Amino acid sequence: MDLFDKCYSFTRADEVKRLGLYPYFRPIEENEGPVVHIEGRKVIMAGSNNYLGLTAHPKVKEAAINAIKRYGTGCSGSRYLTGTIDLHNELEDRLAKFLGYESVLLFSTGYQTSLGTIGTILGKGDYVVSDKENHACIINACMLAKGQMAEFVRYRHNDMKDLRRVISHLPDNGDKLIVTDGVFSVTGEIVHLPEMTEIAKEFNARILVDDAHAVGVIGIGGRGTASYYNKTSETDMTMGTFSKTFSSLGGFVAGPERVTNFLKHHSAALIFSASPTPPSCASALASLDILEQQPELVDKLIKNSNKMRKGFKELGFNVLDGKTAIVPVIVGDVELAFLCWRKLFDNGVFVNAFIPPGVPPNMSMMRTSYMASHEDEHLDKILDVFEKVGKELKLI
Ligand code: PMP
Repeated sequence: MDLFDKCYSFTRADEVKRLGLYPYFRPIEENEGPVVHIEGRKVIMAGSNNYLGLTAHPKVKEAAINAIKRYGTGCSGSRYLTGTIDLHNELEDRLAKFLGYESVLLFSTGYQTSLGTIGTILGKGDYVVSDKENHACIINACMLAKGQMAEFVRYRHNDMKDLRRVISHLPDNGDKLIVTDGVFSVTGEIVHLPEMTEIAKEFNARILVDDAHAVGVIGIGGRGTASYYNKTSETDMTMGTFSKTFSSLGGFVAGPERVTNFLKHHSAALIFSASPTPPSCASALASLDILEQQPELVDKLIKNSNKMRKGFKELGFNVLDGKTAIVPVIVGDVELAFLCWRKLFDNGVFVNAFIPPGVPPNMSMMRTSYMASHEDEHLDKILDVFEKVGKELKLI
């Protein structure tokens, strides 16, 4: 036996590729926002997390270019040592004000933010209480906390009764963190935060909400889940990413200054990893400017997403209901999902094919998501193509 045997015997992806149905790692050759170029063809992007469409915004691009001119292409070190530039501090201050928190700490990705926050703040005798369908970066962060002798317990997905049941069985003397996606990344559901804050109060627990898919999408002017429910003061920490609404790369956690200060001096994911690059910071800052100055973009995003939810439903598709920019169209079977993805792609629409174990068995889906920069012509074309393919595959 050899460690690599499992790699050599893993052939599933090759088989799907041979059939011409492999949906993953498709290189984009040019990105205009709602339309991208793939394999020399223009296709409508209906699966990006570029929620406000700002990756293609001239001001955002210009900010990134100017940052390269001033600071160079990278920081070549950790925030802790020689890798802090004034843009990091500016972005932290601006974001803290925007979200209504005392302070913000940047990480190099959202994934690292989760590892670097949950995996740092929890230790022996503490409890992390996590939704069963939280994002992989939260699950891995909980495993990291477990490796540090914290207890990792889970409750049924977005089920506040079950959260209460789970947390009520934990000893009073253990410190507790409840952690949840704000908007769940696969289904687009919003967490039941008001009930969660009540439970947290009752059991003396802290709350961390991952708002990767919520900032720029829900809440007042796109301020995320806590703002959506007017519960910011009861939501101890909110984390997020720059890779979606902020059209960049990086992550952040917002919370009390003493907490971010602690993380700054203890979080290995921060201390031992290079800081976000100058163009990453500048494009996130420029995106934040636009979000603050044009909150109507958030309304347009939601209007677009609602139009699509309604449109798919009227065509007869099995669509998960919701209020966010994620609109999952359930296909069922894995093979059917690959075939559906390919037919959509051939007809000029690029979506995400989500299959188990990312989704429950027989819940394979075309996870579609929308942007403020989609116009009706794009959305109508997506619906037309789905109708054609849905009929061909007898989905509708
Ligand atoms: N949290 C959630 C809920 C996400 O969906 C993602 C990315 N898909 C992340 C965190 C990770 O963010 P990043 O891309 O910045 O690593």
